Amino acid sequence: MEITFLGTSAMVPTKERNQSSFLLEYNGKGILFDVGEGTQRQLRIIGKSPSKINIILISHWHGDHSLGLIGLLQTLSSQNIEHKITIIGPENTKKNIELLMDIFPSNFSFEYEVLEAEDSVFDFGSFEIHTKVLCHNVKSLGFSFVEKDILKIKEEKIKEEKIKPGPWLGKLQKGLDSEYEGRILKVEDYTFVVKGKKITYISDTQLCDSVFEIAKDSNVIISESTFTREHEDKSVLYKHLTSSQAALVALKSNAELLILTHFSQRYSDLNDMLFEAKEVFENTRLAFDFMKVKL
Ligand SMILES: [Zn+2]
Repeated sequence: MEITFLGTSAMVPTKERNQSSFLLEYNGKGILFDVGEGTQRQLRIIGKSPSKINIILISHWHGDHSLGLIGLLQTLSSQNIEHKITIIGPENTKKNIELLMDIFPSNFSFEYEVLEAEDSVFDFGSFEIHTKVLCHNVKSLGFSFVEKDILKIKEEKIKEEKIKPGPWLGKLQKGLDSEYEGRILKVEDYTFVVKGKKITYISDTQLCDSVFEIAKDSNVIISESTFTREHEDKSVLYKHLTSSQAALVALKSNAELLILTHFSQRYSDLNDMLFEAKEVFENTRLAFDFMKVKL
């Protein structure tokens, strides 16, 4: 599993930072979290084809999170991709996409579905996408990528007992007792659970209960961090987080890693941003465009 940051600025892009977006790649699937203006070019710069994308998540309909959507969809259309694209966003996402297709005449060549979410769960087989309505000045969603637990075979025990490879092992991995040479192999005796990872993206929001709820038990939290403590008044006014508030969420969620993103362009350096977060939650990193994190 790998995350690549494509844009890490807040509303106004800078020379170094594009508007919000990151790509999560998992088992051959590409999940794009937000599509700020210029996201598809950011993909090109790091040599990733937009055709790798299967799922597009739009946290909310502010331009810095969605201006790049129609261009990306038009490019996908020209690439003759054969897989379905799933777009998940808050209320009005269907209507907004139809409006965009009207303004910029579009006839997508690929199959796609648009799903509107509130506090929802979407099943994609080996993982789920959980959504939660956060607390911004428009309806804004937080997203969790939740990998399902998997059963692994206790190889040592299999070797010790000289059990030969065969369909009985596949059955055990599916969580079913199976039969081998006249005896029953019980799932609990021959397998162990590998806990799936949870990665949560906290998009634009002020601090409220739903932020803690979506972040609960995440391994990694990627959070907006628009302001430092010096501008806490602005964070209240515009309904955003400071870096120390994002760190508090990571601390309360027992997270292993916090990655901060969505920085106001007013900061020429982010030392205070990082320092204030680390005071609360030590394992904090600042995202930058094209940063990769392997999990
Ligand atoms: Zn934003």
